[in-house]
Amino acid sequence: LRLVILGGGESGVGTALLGKAKGYKVFVSDKGKVKEKYKDVLLNNEIEFEDEQHTESKILNADIIMKSPGIPDKVALVKQIREAKITVVSEIEFASKFTDATLVAITGSNGKTTTATLTHHLLKQEINVGLAGNIGDSFAKQILDKDHDNYVLEVSSFQLDDIIDFKPKIAVLTNLSPDHLDRYDYKFENYIASKFRVIENQTEDDYFIYDADDEVILEYMSKHQIQSRKLPFSLTKVIEQGAYLDHDNNIIITIDNNKIIMPTNNLALEGKHNVKNAMAASTVAHLLKIRKQTIRESLENFQGVEHRLEHVLKINKVRYINDSKATNVNATYFALESMDAPTVWIVGGVDKGNEYRELFPFVNEKVKAIICLGVDNAKLMESFGNMVDVVVETQYMSEAVKIAYRLAEAGDNVLLSPACASFDLFESYEDRGRQFKNAVRNL
Ligand code: ADP
Repeated sequence: LRLVILGGGESGVGTALLGKAKGYKVFVSDKGKVKEKYKDVLLNNEIEFEDEQHTESKILNADIIMKSPGIPDKVALVKQIREAKITVVSEIEFASKFTDATLVAITGSNGKTTTATLTHHLLKQEINVGLAGNIGDSFAKQILDKDHDNYVLEVSSFQLDDIIDFKPKIAVLTNLSPDHLDRYDYKFENYIASKFRVIENQTEDDYFIYDADDEVILEYMSKHQIQSRKLPFSLTKVIEQGAYLDHDNNIIITIDNNKIIMPTNNLALEGKHNVKNAMAASTVAHLLKIRKQTIRESLENFQGVEHRLEHVLKINKVRYINDSKATNVNATYFALESMDAPTVWIVGGVDKGNEYRELFPFVNEKVKAIICLGVDNAKLMESFGNMVDVVVETQYMSEAVKIAYRLAEAGDNVLLSPACASFDLFESYEDRGRQFKNAVRNL
């Protein structure tokens, strides 16, 4: 069978290797430049490829096409492929056929990486488990190299758009808020439907863990038949089967008659959203029979994930916090909510149609100064200009950090939580976060 792979990145090259090992005739095609390290892999494994072009005749000759998640459906070539009725799959769909491992799929608008990494951390203490998806080595490559008994997969909506039979034993949906709407005809309901595909092949023997405080999730579930066994989590209500927070701030998880109780006062990650992430991760761990003591200890010693409410340094009793991954308002909402001291807030970048109103109460209550760090700060100035005494603008990270240093007093926080994408001034959110950390270290 001829397998054509569109996109020569981590998932594309991983799929190429797995496909070749399974006997497919593989061809990789990338419209952009393929990184040298991936070219080397393809050459060394004698896999045919092209970059900076798509040879249509070869692509349309495929029996099956693996499309990398970054390629939108509106691209002309993809339209042609769909019209030609060639089977299109994503990496998780293709790769999962070649493993018998128990799959945990984690999706949602925010918190995927944090929850997936935390879940992996809890599981790896006692069972053999790989972490894949948008993190580290591709799922396909891990299956090929040394298949694990279990996988925690961080799954984006784009990966879910091209599944057919993909069926995780455990699916987690962290939350739903509008994102990536440009890929969904600007319809929130299309994006929601895409996320819910994570459970479309599940049966009553599989589990669905989700945020029962999320109105969007509840609304969708009220209108659709769900086969999976439901294990919701909530910060606000008592949950009979699933996880909730009791009046003493203990997480209570109940599955059948088996209950575990975990205090939250020693959680490694701060913020309410991270209590939710901890609930989701612990429910998975409980399902996979990780011991209670191990879950408790691992929640306390988890190191966190870079650029997500990451503590950088404390200078003159001021805490510097890097939340560069907050590229939308919802993520910043939880960052501000978790601030326990007056905060100098560095915000801005490429606005994705942001609605800032939901942040107003926190800004009123906690933010003492705002530093707008973007090419176009007009909307920020308009939204917050009258709310906070000090609002300044800059286009340099080093300057933003120096201003923050001057404005912050002992006991305060300096928070980089942009609520915007990074592409106006930075290469990526990682670049933005690293520049912030370097600037802080240079103070
Ligand atoms: P994703 O992989 O879905 O983008 P991350 O774990 O990378 O999610 O976190 C992205 C941003 O969202 C960070 O700023 C993080 O602090 C924040 N965040 C993490 N968990 C949640 C959650 N459950 N709800 C809302 N925001 C969250």
